[in-house]
Amino acid sequence: MLDFCELCGRDGLILAYAPEHSTRGISVHLCPACGLVQSLPRIDRAPRAVAAVSCGADWGNVRYGKGFRTAIALDAVKRYGGLGYFTLLDVGSNRGRFLAAVKNSFPAATLVAVEPDERVAEAAAAVAELHSCRIEDIDLEAGRFDIVHSCHTIEHLAHPMRVLKDHARVLKDGGLLILDAPNIAIIGSDDIVEEWFIDKHLYHFSANTLTRMVEAAGFEILEAPDPSDLANLFIVAKKRAAAAAQAQPLAAEPAEADAARDLVDRYRHIRLGNIQALTAVATELNTLATKGIAIWGAGRIFDSLIVHGGFDPSTLSSLIDTHLKAHMAERHGFPLSGPEALAASQPGVVVVMSRGFADEIVAEAKILAPGADVLVFAELLGRAKRPAA
Ligand SMILES: [Zn+2]
Repeated sequence: MLDFCELCGRDGLILAYAPEHSTRGISVHLCPACGLVQSLPRIDRAPRAVAAVSCGADWGNVRYGKGFRTAIALDAVKRYGGLGYFTLLDVGSNRGRFLAAVKNSFPAATLVAVEPDERVAEAAAAVAELHSCRIEDIDLEAGRFDIVHSCHTIEHLAHPMRVLKDHARVLKDGGLLILDAPNIAIIGSDDIVEEWFIDKHLYHFSANTLTRMVEAAGFEILEAPDPSDLANLFIVAKKRAAAAAQAQPLAAEPAEADAARDLVDRYRHIRLGNIQALTAVATELNTLATKGIAIWGAGRIFDSLIVHGGFDPSTLSSLIDTHLKAHMAERHGFPLSGPEALAASQPGVVVVMSRGFADEIVAEAKILAPGADVLVFAELLGRAKRPAA
């Protein structure tokens, strides 16, 4: 099997990392020329699984991220959308939450949705012309759109460069691309325990590699990713005039490749140490159990605590996860509750198991359980990793 780098087109991809519990046999490779981190083989058409959460690479079918990213994308539409007489293509519309928000702000807009999962796409059909298929399989009219929006979709595609070029094709000259994707920078976090290189993500972009791919596909960057956002890469770009052809091949960037290699090595090392410390985190939680413990956040960090730390959830007074509760009734045999369970049970300790939304959850927990000590997972992990005095 000979695989070429999706960004710079060179061969010679180097094995960088083997994810834990990959059910698709995926491994993570690095392009030594441009630094793009990419998973092989490029299997993007696996059968659908039931909703599941796991701390390994087989992390299942619950789609978290998109809903939280509606506001930032809608703000971009408001900055560039004028009076709202635009035609917008939404790629990977999911339940159509973004489209509904656009329609609410711009009633005159014409909206087109592409979403292969017919189980969720029906909701998008209420506000948009719905194509229930994959973006790679649809042949939309050239020059039809003023705006293309793609949120946490590009990293799933077998050939994102090809799809970005097609976004340019279906846009009018000067048309807008609003693009959002996970940022590989997050794997440098000190408290990472879950497998970040999941089977469903075939590309692991940095600000540099995603920006270069968007430019190479025929766009000019208007808004580059915010360097302070380690979780997401949000880009606004404009379709270049056809005459400005891209230089081929793309120049090598050895510094980007070195940085990517260092980041993946650091991730492997830090995560291993964190996983080993989870046993001590579980032990500390057991000593607190008599006070009554509620855990808020039943996703991948919680899963790590059980799978790697051996934590027994039956000691909990409640397990809270507003989002997951909509998809499943229990996690590891313990029932999921909404935040109201906190007010009802008044635990002595609330442990917040979230990285991206810890501050918001801590604030809400303090209101609902004013007598409780509120701890965040990063603190517990930090204590567990500190050598005993
Ligand atoms: Zn490359």
